Amino acid sequence: MNLPRFLLPAVLLFTGLSSLQAQTQPTDIRYSISMNNPANHYIHVEMECENIRNNGLNVKMPAWTPGYYWLINYAKNVVNFRAKTATGKDLKWSKTNKNTWYIAAEGGKVTVSYDLYAFSQSVADAWVDTGFAYLPPAAVFMHPDGALQQASTVKVTPYAGWKQCYTGLNPLPGKDFTYTASNFDELYDCPFLLGNQYSTAKTINNIPHRLVLQDTAGIDVPGFFSDLEKMIKSANTLMGHVPYKHYTFLIMGEGRGGLEHRNSTAVFSGGPYGKKDSDSYKRWLNFLAHEYFHLYNIKAIRPIALGPFDYDKENYTNMLWVSEGFTVYYEYLILNRAGILNRQDVYNMLRSDIAAYENSPGHLFQSATASSFDTWLQFFNHNPNTAVTTISYYNKGCALGLLLDLKIRHETRNKKSLDDVMRHLYKEFYQEKQRGFKDEEFRQVCENIAGVKLDEIFDVYATTTAPIDYPKYLAYAGLEIDLTPGKAFPVVFDKTGSQKNLAIKDMDKMNELQTAINKSWVKN
Ligand SMILES: [Zn+2]
Repeated sequence: MNLPRFLLPAVLLFTGLSSLQAQTQPTDIRYSISMNNPANHYIHVEMECENIRNNGLNVKMPAWTPGYYWLINYAKNVVNFRAKTATGKDLKWSKTNKNTWYIAAEGGKVTVSYDLYAFSQSVADAWVDTGFAYLPPAAVFMHPDGALQQASTVKVTPYAGWKQCYTGLNPLPGKDFTYTASNFDELYDCPFLLGNQYSTAKTINNIPHRLVLQDTAGIDVPGFFSDLEKMIKSANTLMGHVPYKHYTFLIMGEGRGGLEHRNSTAVFSGGPYGKKDSDSYKRWLNFLAHEYFHLYNIKAIRPIALGPFDYDKENYTNMLWVSEGFTVYYEYLILNRAGILNRQDVYNMLRSDIAAYENSPGHLFQSATASSFDTWLQFFNHNPNTAVTTISYYNKGCALGLLLDLKIRHETRNKKSLDDVMRHLYKEFYQEKQRGFKDEEFRQVCENIAGVKLDEIFDVYATTTAPIDYPKYLAYAGLEIDLTPGKAFPVVFDKTGSQKNLAIKDMDKMNELQTAINKSWVKN
C-alpha cells in the first residue's frame, strides 16, 4: 500500500509515541464482566491495570478476531467508556483513532469500564440474551497498548440463575468463575459460553475433552461423542502429538459458522444433524473435524503473518489455501481413517470441492494466493462483482492439497505423503522454531519431502488461474475424473456456458504403484 506523502510525518510520530507507550505498560491486568440485564443485550466490562509507571495510558479494542479475516471493528459496540484512579476519581480521556482511547493517567492504578452491545449471532461477535451469552474475547476485552505479552485474569459474573461458564482458559484455583491467561493471544483465543448448557466429558488419549451443547434436540449425544472421539484419535495419530491440556467443543444453536481455537472450538449450528450415516450427519462431523484439525493447521502450523497477531489491522497472507484448503482436505482423510467416511464419501466430497471451484466463474479471474491475500476485502463482503470474479481458497486449496498429496506419493513411490509435510512443519516451525512459516519455507518443505521440484503446483496452480490437469494427478492413485461438460446452471463468465461433472472413480486397471497409492490413500 502507498501512503500519501503528507501522512508520513504523522505515521513516524505515531510510531515514536507507540514505543514510548511500551514503557508505560501495566504489570497486573484484571477483568471482570457481568450481565445483569441480558434482555438489553449489553454486558459490562471492567479492566483494572496496576503499576502504571508514567503518565498516560492508551487502551485498545481489537479490530478483528483471528480466524475471521474481516475487520469487524469491535470498538463500534463500546458505550459508557470511563476511566478512574485508585481513589475513584474520574480521569480525562479522548479517542485518538477508531479503536484507541488515550487516558490521562497519573501512574499507579487505572480502572477502565464500559458497556458492550452484544446482539449479533455469529462466532466472531458477542451475544447475550436471557438464554445464554457467547463472548469471543477479541470482541469484548480491551488491552493496554504495548501489553500483548502481559498476563491477565478474568472474573465472570454470570446472569442470575446461570450455573455454567465454559472457556478454554485455565481456571484460577479456589476462585469461582475466575480464569487466567498468560498473554493476550491466549486470552483472545478462548471464547466464553455462559448459561445452563448440557455438558459431558470424556478422557481421550489421556486428555479431558468437554462437549457443551446449547440444545441436545435431534442429537444422539453418546453416539455423537463417540464419533468425535474417533475423529480426534485419527487426527492425533496423524500428527503424532497433542498440544493441549484440555479441549472444549462449544456447540450453540442457530447461527453462522464455526471458529477454531487452540483448545476449543465455537460452533453455531441449528441442525438438522440427521441420523448416523446420513449425508447431513457426515457433513456435520466434517464441520467439527475441520474446526478441530485447525488446532494443528493454522493454530500450530501457520503462515508467519498469523500469530503473534496485530489486532489493529489486516494481517495479510498468501497462504490461506494451505491453512483453510488443506484443513478441508484433512476433514475427509481423518474421518475416512476414523472409519466414519467411506471411500465413496471421500470421492464425493472431493468432487464437490473441485466442482465448486471449476464451475465458479471466478476461477478465470483469481488465483488461490490472490484469494487469500484479498480475503479482507472480499470473502465476507460479497456483491454481484465478487460473486463472479473471486474464488474460495477452501475449494481450490482442497484441490491443491489433493494434487500435492498424490504428487508426493507418486514421486516417493508411496513412501511419503502430505502427512509427512504436515508433521515436518509442525515439528520444525511450531515445536522447534516456535514461529509461523514463510511462503518459500512451506514450498521448500514440500519439495524436500517430494524429492523433486514442484513448479507446476506452486508457480502455476497456486499463483495463476491456469487450468489444472486433474487426470494426470488423479491417475497417480489409479483414479479417473469425469470432465464432461453438462448443461446445468450456466454461469455468466464461463466460456463454455456449461458445468463439468467432475465425478471421481477408480480406474478399471491400475499398475502396482497406482494400486499401492490407491489403497493407502483412502480406505474402503
Ligand atoms: Zn477453517
